[in-house]
Amino acid sequence: MLVNMRIEKISSQSLILKNHLISENYYNTGESSIISTEIDHISTLYDCRVEIIDSNLNIVKDTYVIDEGKISVNPTVIQCFRQGNVTDYNREDNCIDYAVSISTENEEGTTFLGVLYIVIDLTDVELVVDDLMETLYMCSVICLLIGLVASYVFAGHVLQPFKTVGESIRHIAEGNLEDELPQQGYKETAEIEEPFHRLLSRLKQLEESRQEFVSNVSHELKTPITSIKVLADSLLLQEDLPAELYREFMTDIVAEIDRENEIITDLLAMVKLDKNNVPLNIDKINMNNMIELILKRLRPIAAKQNIELVFESFRPVIADVDEVKMTMAITNLVENAIKYNVLDGWVRVSLNADHKYMYITVADSGIGIPQESQTMIFERFYRVDKARSRETGGTGLGLSITRNIIVMHNGDVKLHSRENEGTTFTVRIPLNYVKQ
Ligand code: ADP
Repeated sequence: MLVNMRIEKISSQSLILKNHLISENYYNTGESSIISTEIDHISTLYDCRVEIIDSNLNIVKDTYVIDEGKISVNPTVIQCFRQGNVTDYNREDNCIDYAVSISTENEEGTTFLGVLYIVIDLTDVELVVDDLMETLYMCSVICLLIGLVASYVFAGHVLQPFKTVGESIRHIAEGNLEDELPQQGYKETAEIEEPFHRLLSRLKQLEESRQEFVSNVSHELKTPITSIKVLADSLLLQEDLPAELYREFMTDIVAEIDRENEIITDLLAMVKLDKNNVPLNIDKINMNNMIELILKRLRPIAAKQNIELVFESFRPVIADVDEVKMTMAITNLVENAIKYNVLDGWVRVSLNADHKYMYITVADSGIGIPQESQTMIFERFYRVDKARSRETGGTGLGLSITRNIIVMHNGDVKLHSRENEGTTFTVRIPLNYVKQ
């Protein structure tokens, strides 16, 4: 590119010079200040050697002076003599040989006057190119370095929020669940912070309920054991006790052991249901038969308090249920209706269905549940009146187990209760079971 530009400039300058050589009649006069100035100008400006050769190959003018008066044997000049203008790149010397044929035209024909020979040195061009290449290389290196530093700084800046969040998560993962993820307001980490907050509060909830459960279980299991110990100690400490008192104490001890056994049985049932993916053995079950069987079993207990046990069946209902688990759930509800009832009271169980659900209600004329306790009674170990629950052999786990079973069947349970008037539990379960 640079070489071509140089050639173009020289060729236009040489054309001017050629015209002046002819117009100044230089070949005949041999002297012209205009020509001399022009030649000097070209040679200095383009750092080139200029020779003017006449038709006899005599070098008339040489800007390097050394060849003036000599015969030119330059192949380019000779070629120009023969063929006209020549431009030749001399790779060895890194220069361009440029020869222009000078001739005049008149009526007699063309008169060949000589050759204008210019040697253009390209060393400076090469230097410029080298210089440019070097500058370009330096620029690239600097750009690369700036790029590297900028990306390092940028990456550090972008990663900083993740680092901070990562450190907080690591700290929490080490067991410091009470710690919060600091609110940093970084856009980059907002996406992970929000779900992590939810996960953390879920973990906290689980941890709290685990601790509460363990302490409740320990407390519940300890109560009968404490009673047994007190009873047994009394027997040991008193000598010569009458046989009836022994019998009475031993009966109490057996009752406490039975209670302990009940709690453990309920706990095991609940833990089994709590496990994820507990298999449900779903069958098409005749619900009318199932409820009749449950009431038949519980009738003797109801009879003890002269409680009337009624079953209202609105239609035959066949539903997809796990027979054992559903029996346990309904039994719990009816048992409670008897346990928390009044003397000569009643319990009504009804069964109905529409095209989608079956509805089982268990209503009683019992003591009712205070408004403030109604949201709690499905919680494990929650009892409105601990003493009464204990008297009737309650563990506080029955309703929790019942609700678990109903939920496993994709159903729900609601309650309506008024103190001293009675309670109604309404269970709604889909007739067709679909695994979710
Ligand atoms: P429990 O083994 O104590 O009966 P549940 O989980 O079955 O435990 O019931 C929890 C508590 O809810 C009971 O202790 C009782 O206070 C109250 N409760 C349950 N059913 C009834 C009902 N039909 N009438 C009045 N209170 C009830």
